[in-house]
Amino acid sequence: MQKLYFKEGLLGGDWALNICVEVASDGVIAAVHSGVDIPLEADVHETVLPSMPNLHSHAFQRAFAGLAEYREAGQSDFWSWRNAMYHFAAQMNPDALKVITSALYVEMLKAGYTAVGEFHYLHNSHTDQALAMSEAVLAAANDSGIALTHLPVLYQASDFGGKSASDGQKPFLHCNKEFERLLQVLKPRISGRHQLGMAFHSLRAVPEENFAGAVDAIENINLKAPIHIHIAEQMKEVEASVAHSGKRPVEWLLENQNVDERWCLVHATHVQEHEWKAIAKSGAVVGLCPATEANLGDGLFPVPEYTQMGGGFGIGSDSHISVDAREELRLLEYGQRLARQKRTVLTYEGGGHTGEYLWREAARGGAQALAQPIGEIAVGKRADLLVINRDNPMMAGSFYGQVMDSFIFSGQPNPISDVMVAGEWVVRGGKHKYEEDIFGAYKETVREIAMAMEA
Ligand SMILES: [Zn+2]
Repeated sequence: MQKLYFKEGLLGGDWALNICVEVASDGVIAAVHSGVDIPLEADVHETVLPSMPNLHSHAFQRAFAGLAEYREAGQSDFWSWRNAMYHFAAQMNPDALKVITSALYVEMLKAGYTAVGEFHYLHNSHTDQALAMSEAVLAAANDSGIALTHLPVLYQASDFGGKSASDGQKPFLHCNKEFERLLQVLKPRISGRHQLGMAFHSLRAVPEENFAGAVDAIENINLKAPIHIHIAEQMKEVEASVAHSGKRPVEWLLENQNVDERWCLVHATHVQEHEWKAIAKSGAVVGLCPATEANLGDGLFPVPEYTQMGGGFGIGSDSHISVDAREELRLLEYGQRLARQKRTVLTYEGGGHTGEYLWREAARGGAQALAQPIGEIAVGKRADLLVINRDNPMMAGSFYGQVMDSFIFSGQPNPISDVMVAGEWVVRGGKHKYEEDIFGAYKETVREIAMAMEA
């Protein structure tokens, strides 16, 4: 039994002092006490937080971040960004994907994320190649030490009505049979702290008659496996959905699928009141990616009204234009402040600390969406913990509940010094144990891709 002692930290919904956490050899928390003296054999630290799940990632896009910040003649919108991204995706192979994903996952761990939902559509395609691409993601998770919820994506069409895929979408495609085979082949390979789920790319990318077979395929593996979908990121797709079926995307999904706690509705950006109320009632989690949604000019989800109805949410770094849980939460809150000309919009009913509320709720929702036993420091949860360096000047004047507010809102330097996954320290003193090699390989690979694209 490993004994850890913290002078303070976030336990459940409360700020607690003099905390002892006991971790069993399987990496699960066996006991938590607060208000106790330092045990003789304890490993002593200052401030502890539960780690943050990152519920939405397209790992290969990390190497593309910052490469689409120019305007060409004509429109510059989500759809023109997507064409540039397809061009980049075409350069990927299993080796490059593993190198890029390993480096991204190291960045995530240092930023406080200890589990990631990899929304993986870069199959490249058909079973052998698709297996190699999924194995590259799994190897990257193992090399970095992050917990992976692997979400192979079903992608079949370029638009509603089963419209043929474009050339840029060819590496993403599977028929239902190939997809089911991929899930079956992956099943024995994904174990330990990793989870297997699935995703529908979007309503536009999967004809409605193919939904049921894919849900059956994952339920045959695990009845509780997570199911994710990009749901309503852009108004253009909402309008196309209405033109196709007479229903908005969220309306169609909730009427035609058994949407429950297993589901994560990523970018539920464009929803009307009856839709966000229905999502809250379903028990599904809304996946919000504030930095990417801002970068792509998507829009704002009505978080305050939805959370007041009991709706759950989590955060994702999606295109990885930012890899920082604190920045995602800061932008989530700032978007709502700017839209409403108010302050401290997201917090507990009756008031409280915004920072603490955002961290607690996003950790809980993200853990549910990834089927990972994390998100709070409690008996039975995995020991995925963050230690904050209180020597950082940005934290100097904050005490108790203010610590989380300063942590999220008071500056850019990352005050996370140590990160534990399943009882093992993977980041110490702000450094991941393999970061030099992993970042070195990343720089070489990304330079080679950039040169190949220039040629
Ligand atoms: Zn996405």
